Amino acid sequence: MEKLTIVVPCYNEEEAIPLFYEAAKEALKDLPLTKEYLFVNDGSRDKTIEVLRKLAEEDESVHYISFSRNFGKESAMYAGLKESDGDYVVIMDADLQDPPELIPSMYESIINEGFDCVATRRVDRKGEPPIRSLFANIFYLIMHVIAKVDMVPGARDFRFMKRTMVDAICDMGEYNRFSKGIFGWVGFDTKWVPFENRKRVAGKTKWSFFKLFQYSIEGIVAFSTTPLVWASIIGVAFCVIAFLALIFLFVRALIFGDPVSGWPSLACMITFSAGIQLFCSGIIGLYISKAYLEVKGRPIYIVKEKK
Ligand code: UDP
Ligand code: MG
Repeated sequence: MEKLTIVVPCYNEEEAIPLFYEAAKEALKDLPLTKEYLFVNDGSRDKTIEVLRKLAEEDESVHYISFSRNFGKESAMYAGLKESDGDYVVIMDADLQDPPELIPSMYESIINEGFDCVATRRVDRKGEPPIRSLFANIFYLIMHVIAKVDMVPGARDFRFMKRTMVDAICDMGEYNRFSKGIFGWVGFDTKWVPFENRKRVAGKTKWSFFKLFQYSIEGIVAFSTTPLVWASIIGVAFCVIAFLALIFLFVRALIFGDPVSGWPSLACMITFSAGIQLFCSGIIGLYISKAYLEVKGRPIYIVKEKK
Protein backbone atom coordinates (compact mmCIF):
# COMPACT_ATOMS: atom_id res chain seq x y z
CA MET A 1 0.00 0.00 0.00
CA GLU A 2 1.21 3.55 -0.71
CA LYS A 3 2.02 5.82 2.17
CA LEU A 4 0.72 9.25 3.16
CA THR A 5 2.82 11.40 5.50
CA ILE A 6 0.90 14.09 7.38
CA VAL A 7 3.28 16.89 8.29
CA VAL A 8 2.12 19.11 11.16
CA PRO A 9 4.18 22.12 12.30
CA CYS A 10 3.52 22.78 15.99
CA TYR A 11 4.45 25.72 18.14
CA ASN A 12 2.84 25.79 21.58
CA GLU A 13 0.02 23.46 20.58
CA GLU A 14 -0.31 21.23 23.67
CA GLU A 15 -4.07 21.66 23.73
CA ALA A 16 -4.66 21.40 20.00
CA ILE A 17 -2.54 18.33 19.17
CA PRO A 18 -4.71 15.65 20.86
CA LEU A 19 -7.84 17.14 19.26
CA PHE A 20 -6.10 17.31 15.90
CA TYR A 21 -4.88 13.73 16.13
CA GLU A 22 -8.33 12.36 16.96
CA ALA A 23 -10.03 14.36 14.23
CA ALA A 24 -7.45 13.42 11.61
CA LYS A 25 -7.56 9.74 12.54
CA GLU A 26 -11.34 9.73 12.25
CA ALA A 27 -11.32 11.58 8.92
CA LEU A 28 -8.67 9.35 7.36
CA LYS A 29 -9.82 5.95 8.58
CA ASP A 30 -11.26 4.85 5.21
CA LEU A 31 -8.45 6.25 3.09
CA PRO A 32 -6.68 3.38 1.27
CA LEU A 33 -3.20 4.57 2.24
CA THR A 34 -0.83 3.80 5.09
CA LYS A 35 -0.87 6.89 7.29
CA GLU A 36 2.08 8.34 9.09
CA TYR A 37 1.99 11.47 11.23
CA LEU A 38 5.06 13.64 11.40
CA PHE A 39 4.75 16.40 13.98
CA VAL A 40 7.43 19.07 13.95
CA ASN A 41 7.86 20.68 17.34
CA ASP A 42 9.17 24.13 16.52
CA GLY A 43 10.80 24.93 19.87
CA SER A 44 7.54 25.13 21.81
CA ARG A 45 7.64 26.60 25.30
CA ASP A 46 4.69 24.63 26.62
CA LYS A 47 4.22 20.86 27.01
CA THR A 48 3.95 20.13 23.28
CA ILE A 49 6.97 17.80 23.31
CA GLU A 50 5.55 15.75 26.18
CA VAL A 51 2.24 15.41 24.37
CA LEU A 52 4.10 14.25 21.26
CA ARG A 53 6.27 11.76 23.14
CA LYS A 54 3.15 10.25 24.68
CA LEU A 55 1.34 10.04 21.33
CA ALA A 56 4.37 8.42 19.70
CA GLU A 57 4.49 5.82 22.49
CA GLU A 58 0.84 4.93 22.03
CA ASP A 59 0.73 4.94 18.24
CA GLU A 60 3.46 3.53 16.00
CA SER A 61 2.38 5.71 13.10
CA VAL A 62 3.15 8.91 15.03
CA HIS A 63 6.63 10.39 14.63
CA TYR A 64 8.03 13.70 15.64
CA ILE A 65 11.01 15.98 15.13
CA SER A 66 11.83 18.50 17.81
CA PHE A 67 13.89 21.63 17.08
CA SER A 68 16.52 23.08 19.37
CA ARG A 69 14.61 26.41 19.39
CA ASN A 70 11.82 28.20 17.54
CA PHE A 71 12.80 28.46 13.87
CA GLY A 72 9.43 29.53 12.49
CA LYS A 73 6.70 27.76 10.57
CA GLU A 74 8.58 27.93 7.27
CA SER A 75 11.51 25.98 8.73
CA ALA A 76 9.12 23.53 10.38
CA MET A 77 7.38 22.82 7.08
CA TYR A 78 10.71 22.37 5.30
CA ALA A 79 11.94 19.97 7.97
CA GLY A 80 8.71 17.99 7.75
CA LEU A 81 8.96 17.68 3.97
CA LYS A 82 12.64 16.75 4.13
CA GLU A 83 12.16 14.07 6.76
CA SER A 84 8.98 12.64 5.25
CA ASP A 85 9.18 9.55 3.07
CA GLY A 86 5.55 9.00 2.06
CA ASP A 87 4.48 8.65 -1.58
CA TYR A 88 2.14 11.51 -0.77
CA VAL A 89 2.56 14.30 1.73
CA VAL A 90 -0.02 16.61 3.22
CA ILE A 91 0.94 19.68 5.25
CA MET A 92 -1.57 20.97 7.76
CA ASP A 93 -1.82 23.17 10.85
CA ALA A 94 -2.31 21.66 14.28
CA ASP A 95 -5.25 23.90 15.15
CA LEU A 96 -7.84 22.20 12.88
CA GLN A 97 -8.23 25.35 10.81
CA ASP A 98 -7.32 23.03 7.94
CA PRO A 99 -10.19 20.52 7.87
CA PRO A 100 -8.88 16.93 7.65
CA GLU A 101 -12.25 15.87 6.13
CA LEU A 102 -11.04 17.36 2.86
CA ILE A 103 -8.11 14.94 2.56
CA PRO A 104 -9.98 11.94 1.06
CA SER A 105 -11.40 14.07 -1.76
CA MET A 106 -7.96 15.63 -2.31
CA TYR A 107 -6.55 12.15 -2.75
CA GLU A 108 -9.37 11.32 -5.19
CA SER A 109 -8.46 14.36 -7.30
CA ILE A 110 -4.85 13.22 -7.47
CA ILE A 111 -5.73 9.66 -8.44
CA ASN A 112 -8.69 10.28 -10.76
CA GLU A 113 -8.08 13.73 -12.20
CA GLY A 114 -4.33 13.45 -12.63
CA PHE A 115 -3.25 16.44 -10.54
CA ASP A 116 0.18 16.53 -8.86
CA CYS A 117 -1.05 18.63 -6.01
CA VAL A 118 -4.31 19.75 -4.43
CA ALA A 119 -4.08 23.03 -2.56
CA THR A 120 -6.66 24.89 -0.51
CA ARG A 121 -7.68 28.47 -0.14
CA ARG A 122 -10.01 30.26 2.21
CA VAL A 123 -12.94 31.91 0.50
CA ASP A 124 -13.60 34.31 3.36
CA ARG A 125 -11.74 35.82 6.25
CA LYS A 126 -14.50 35.59 8.83
CA GLY A 127 -13.39 36.20 12.40
CA GLU A 128 -10.36 38.18 11.30
CA PRO A 129 -9.80 41.87 12.09
CA PRO A 130 -10.79 43.93 8.98
CA ILE A 131 -7.48 45.80 8.99
CA ARG A 132 -5.63 42.50 8.71
CA SER A 133 -7.78 41.41 5.75
CA LEU A 134 -7.19 44.77 4.09
CA PHE A 135 -3.41 44.42 4.35
CA ALA A 136 -3.59 40.81 3.19
CA ASN A 137 -5.50 41.90 0.08
CA ILE A 138 -3.00 44.69 -0.62
CA PHE A 139 -0.18 42.17 -0.26
CA TYR A 140 -1.74 39.75 -2.76
CA LEU A 141 -2.33 42.61 -5.17
CA ILE A 142 1.33 43.72 -4.95
CA MET A 143 2.53 40.15 -5.35
CA HIS A 144 0.27 39.70 -8.34
CA VAL A 145 1.69 42.77 -10.03
CA ILE A 146 5.39 42.32 -9.29
CA ALA A 147 6.14 38.67 -8.69
CA LYS A 148 6.44 36.16 -11.46
CA VAL A 149 4.96 33.27 -9.52
CA ASP A 150 1.29 32.58 -9.38
CA MET A 151 -0.10 33.20 -5.90
CA VAL A 152 -3.75 32.67 -5.13
CA PRO A 153 -5.41 35.05 -2.65
CA GLY A 154 -6.31 33.33 0.61
CA ALA A 155 -4.04 30.36 -0.18
CA ARG A 156 -3.29 28.20 2.84
CA ASP A 157 -0.24 26.04 3.34
CA PHE A 158 -2.65 23.09 3.62
CA ARG A 159 -1.97 20.95 0.54
CA PHE A 160 -1.75 17.38 -0.64
CA MET A 161 1.28 16.65 -2.82
CA LYS A 162 2.85 13.85 -4.76
CA ARG A 163 6.40 12.83 -3.90
CA THR A 164 7.82 14.37 -7.10
CA MET A 165 6.59 17.79 -6.05
CA VAL A 166 7.82 17.35 -2.48
CA ASP A 167 11.29 16.46 -3.78
CA ALA A 168 11.29 19.55 -5.98
CA ILE A 169 10.44 21.72 -2.97
CA CYS A 170 13.17 20.07 -0.86
CA ASP A 171 15.70 20.86 -3.60
CA MET A 172 15.00 24.54 -3.02
CA GLY A 173 17.30 24.86 -0.05
CA GLU A 174 17.11 28.63 0.32
CA TYR A 175 17.41 30.12 3.79
CA ASN A 176 14.79 32.84 3.36
CA ARG A 177 11.83 30.60 2.74
CA PHE A 178 8.47 31.80 1.54
CA SER A 179 6.48 28.64 0.88
CA LYS A 180 3.47 30.27 -0.75
CA GLY A 181 5.87 31.43 -3.46
CA ILE A 182 7.93 28.24 -3.55
CA PHE A 183 4.83 26.07 -4.12
CA GLY A 184 3.95 28.18 -7.15
CA TRP A 185 7.52 28.45 -8.39
CA VAL A 186 8.09 24.70 -8.67
CA GLY A 187 5.11 24.42 -11.01
CA PHE A 188 3.17 21.10 -11.27
CA ASP A 189 -0.57 20.81 -11.92
CA THR A 190 -2.39 22.16 -8.94
CA LYS A 191 -6.08 21.99 -8.18
CA TRP A 192 -7.49 24.67 -5.87
CA VAL A 193 -10.14 23.69 -3.36
CA PRO A 194 -11.97 26.54 -1.61
CA PHE A 195 -13.27 26.19 1.93
CA GLU A 196 -14.77 28.42 4.58
CA ASN A 197 -12.57 29.87 7.28
CA ARG A 198 -12.68 28.12 10.65
CA LYS A 199 -11.75 29.16 14.14
CA ARG A 200 -8.79 27.41 15.75
CA VAL A 201 -9.92 24.68 18.18
CA ALA A 202 -7.63 25.62 21.05
CA GLY A 203 -4.68 27.82 21.87
CA LYS A 204 -3.83 31.18 20.30
CA THR A 205 -2.58 32.37 16.90
CA LYS A 206 1.18 32.89 16.73
CA TRP A 207 1.01 35.68 14.19
CA SER A 208 0.95 39.27 15.34
CA PHE A 209 0.20 41.97 12.82
CA PHE A 210 3.85 43.01 12.83
CA LYS A 211 5.07 39.45 12.20
CA LEU A 212 2.68 39.14 9.25
CA PHE A 213 3.91 42.45 7.88
CA GLN A 214 7.53 41.27 8.08
CA TYR A 215 6.55 37.99 6.47
CA SER A 216 4.95 39.82 3.54
CA ILE A 217 8.10 41.91 2.99
CA GLU A 218 10.06 38.65 3.04
CA GLY A 219 7.77 37.23 0.38
CA ILE A 220 8.19 40.25 -1.88
CA VAL A 221 11.98 40.27 -1.53
CA ALA A 222 12.21 36.50 -2.03
CA PHE A 223 10.15 36.41 -5.20
CA SER A 224 10.67 39.66 -6.99
CA THR A 225 13.45 42.10 -7.81
CA THR A 226 10.94 44.64 -9.15
CA PRO A 227 11.37 47.01 -6.16
CA LEU A 228 15.03 47.42 -7.20
CA VAL A 229 13.91 48.41 -10.68
CA TRP A 230 11.46 50.90 -9.16
CA ALA A 231 14.28 52.39 -7.10
CA SER A 232 16.32 52.98 -10.26
CA ILE A 233 13.34 54.43 -12.11
CA ILE A 234 12.59 56.82 -9.26
CA GLY A 235 16.27 57.85 -9.32
CA VAL A 236 16.17 58.64 -13.03
CA ALA A 237 12.85 60.48 -12.69
CA PHE A 238 14.33 62.68 -9.96
CA CYS A 239 17.36 63.52 -12.12
CA VAL A 240 15.05 64.63 -14.90
CA ILE A 241 12.95 66.76 -12.53
CA ALA A 242 16.09 68.31 -11.04
CA PHE A 243 17.40 69.16 -14.49
CA LEU A 244 14.14 70.81 -15.55
CA ALA A 245 14.03 72.76 -12.28
CA LEU A 246 17.57 73.95 -12.88
CA ILE A 247 16.69 75.33 -16.30
CA PHE A 248 13.55 76.96 -14.88
CA LEU A 249 15.47 78.66 -12.05
CA PHE A 250 18.26 79.76 -14.35
CA VAL A 251 15.88 81.36 -16.81
CA ARG A 252 13.83 82.94 -14.03
CA ALA A 253 16.95 84.43 -12.41
CA LEU A 254 18.02 85.85 -15.79
CA ILE A 255 14.64 87.47 -16.40
CA PHE A 256 13.60 88.61 -12.90
CA GLY A 257 16.86 88.70 -11.00
CA ASP A 258 16.32 88.08 -7.23
CA PRO A 259 18.29 84.79 -6.91
CA VAL A 260 17.57 84.18 -3.18
CA SER A 261 13.77 83.98 -3.13
CA GLY A 262 12.14 80.62 -2.81
CA TRP A 263 14.08 79.01 0.04
CA PRO A 264 10.97 77.29 1.54
CA SER A 265 10.43 75.38 -1.68
CA LEU A 266 14.14 74.55 -1.68
CA ALA A 267 13.93 73.16 1.86
CA CYS A 268 10.94 71.03 0.87
CA MET A 269 12.74 69.68 -2.17
CA ILE A 270 15.85 68.78 -0.19
CA THR A 271 13.98 66.89 2.51
CA PHE A 272 11.77 65.18 -0.06
CA SER A 273 14.64 64.01 -2.23
CA ALA A 274 16.62 62.95 0.83
CA GLY A 275 13.64 60.87 1.91
CA ILE A 276 13.37 59.22 -1.48
CA GLN A 277 17.10 58.47 -1.42
CA LEU A 278 16.89 56.83 1.97
CA PHE A 279 13.85 54.86 0.87
CA CYS A 280 15.69 53.54 -2.17
CA SER A 281 18.83 52.68 -0.20
CA GLY A 282 16.52 50.89 2.23
CA ILE A 283 15.18 48.74 -0.60
CA ILE A 284 18.69 47.91 -1.75
CA GLY A 285 19.67 47.21 1.85
CA LEU A 286 16.82 44.73 2.18
CA TYR A 287 18.08 42.72 -0.75
CA ILE A 288 21.68 42.87 0.48
CA SER A 289 20.66 41.69 3.94
CA LYS A 290 18.77 38.74 2.46
CA ALA A 291 21.73 37.89 0.23
CA TYR A 292 24.02 38.13 3.28
CA LEU A 293 21.92 35.64 5.22
CA GLU A 294 21.75 33.37 2.20
CA VAL A 295 25.53 33.42 1.65
CA LYS A 296 26.22 32.37 5.23
CA GLY A 297 24.58 29.06 4.40
CA ARG A 298 23.33 28.42 7.92
CA PRO A 299 21.11 25.39 8.49
CA ILE A 300 17.39 26.08 8.16
CA TYR A 301 16.62 24.11 11.30
CA ILE A 302 18.44 22.13 14.00
CA VAL A 303 16.99 18.89 15.31
CA LYS A 304 17.33 18.15 19.00
CA GLU A 305 15.24 15.03 19.27
CA LYS A 306 13.32 12.80 16.91
CA LYS A 307 11.39 9.58 16.75
N1 UDP B 1 3.68 27.45 13.86
C1 UDP B 1 4.99 26.97 13.91
N2 UDP B 1 6.00 27.83 14.23
C2 UDP B 1 5.79 29.16 14.51
C3 UDP B 1 4.46 29.64 14.42
C4 UDP B 1 3.43 28.76 14.09
O1 UDP B 1 5.22 25.80 13.67
O2 UDP B 1 6.75 29.87 14.79
C5 UDP B 1 2.58 26.53 13.50
C6 UDP B 1 1.42 26.52 14.51
O3 UDP B 1 1.66 25.63 15.56
C7 UDP B 1 0.25 26.07 13.63
C8 UDP B 1 0.61 26.67 12.28
O4 UDP B 1 2.00 26.96 12.30
O5 UDP B 1 0.17 24.66 13.52
C9 UDP B 1 -0.18 27.92 11.97
O6 UDP B 1 -0.07 28.84 13.02
P1 UDP B 1 -1.29 29.70 13.55
O7 UDP B 1 -2.51 28.85 13.67
O8 UDP B 1 -0.83 30.43 14.76
O9 UDP B 1 -1.46 30.72 12.35
P2 UDP B 1 -2.84 31.29 11.75
O10 UDP B 1 -3.70 30.09 11.45
O11 UDP B 1 -3.41 32.17 12.79
O12 UDP B 1 -2.41 32.00 10.51
MG1 MG C 1 -4.21 28.69 12.69
